[in-house]
Amino acid sequence: MKAAILGATGLVGQRFVQLLNDHSWFEISALTGSERSAGMLYGEAVNWRMESRLKHTIAEIPVQPSDPKQIDADVLFSALPADQAGSIEEDFAKAGFAVVSNASSHRMEPDVPLMNPEVNFEHLRLIDEQRRRRKWDGALVTDPNCTTAVLTLSLKPILEEFGLKNVVMSSMQAASGAGYPGVASLDLIDNVIPFIKDEEEKVQQETRKILGSVEGPANFRASASCHRVPVIDGHTEAVFVQTEKAASPEDVADCMNGFVAEPQKLKLPSAPERPVVVRQEADRPQPRFDRTEGHGMSVVVGRIRSDPVFNGVKYIALGHNTIRGAAGCAILIAESMKAQGYIS
Ligand code: NAP
Repeated sequence: MKAAILGATGLVGQRFVQLLNDHSWFEISALTGSERSAGMLYGEAVNWRMESRLKHTIAEIPVQPSDPKQIDADVLFSALPADQAGSIEEDFAKAGFAVVSNASSHRMEPDVPLMNPEVNFEHLRLIDEQRRRRKWDGALVTDPNCTTAVLTLSLKPILEEFGLKNVVMSSMQAASGAGYPGVASLDLIDNVIPFIKDEEEKVQQETRKILGSVEGPANFRASASCHRVPVIDGHTEAVFVQTEKAASPEDVADCMNGFVAEPQKLKLPSAPERPVVVRQEADRPQPRFDRTEGHGMSVVVGRIRSDPVFNGVKYIALGHNTIRGAAGCAILIAESMKAQGYIS
């Protein structure tokens, strides 16, 4: 199937290019950029920041404007900035394209699925409602904010087994979460920045939508405090959970380790064998060593212990922000859509 990437020159766009390079179902057919780069070859327009080499064949693709009339694709991956994504993504969906977006613009709209596939696969059904309401043949599906993607995957097994009453999360977020060039090095090296605009509100709202049903958000309470740290990739989160039914740290480790969902059962190409990997060592997870677990699609959890305030559990969760938290998650959504017949 032909796949186009909107905003292909940014950090998330580059991650899409890297992940789609060897994908067994999708082949890159078009790349778009802003006015700055449209008309250039991708290799000239991009400041390639990925670990692997940019393939010659991809470097030779001309960057196009984000115009539905000029793009040939079966599925579109959007890595546009939120202030651009709103109308551009709608134009593509109206024109009949299936759009999977990383931007926040449409996430909280009631007929737009906000998906982390192992967590709420059934939310894909909202596409039927969206098509009816908006009278379009295309589809618009979003993936979560990067911090929310890590948090919700770690919470899902707990929700299923024990129920959730209250969730508190404090994050240590990587520099790449701010895009390229992102936060100035002189602001971030030797420092922690205790504010990321709109991030806490996004985590609080999105977590309840994703862990809720198609009828509405889950009814537990969520509180987040978000911080930028001098790590390149990988968001680390300290999570404190009050459950409905009593849960020991051992119970929680067991349910996380055994957790699999629809993407694993369907053997989707980007689904990690184990979505949540529990480490027993006292000093894991760490971003440098654990962010590529499951090709960057697994969330690694460690230090699960009792929480004396909540009378519940607390733990550390870590996930790759541009893979599970962005491009990888979006590709898994597109695979889920194809498996369910929403992309043909
Ligand atoms: P970024 O590095 O700043 O890249 C954004 C890119 O969008 C720029 O390179 C720019 O391309 C391009 N662009 C701007 N206007 C455009 C237009 N009209 N048509 C096509 N391309 C256009 O940002 P990012 O980190 O990749 O983030 C992209 C999106 O994903 C944002 O909405 C962000 O919030 C979301 N997201 C990011 C992360 C993360 O960890 N970084 C995680 C989850 C979600 P030119 O080079 O052509 O000017």
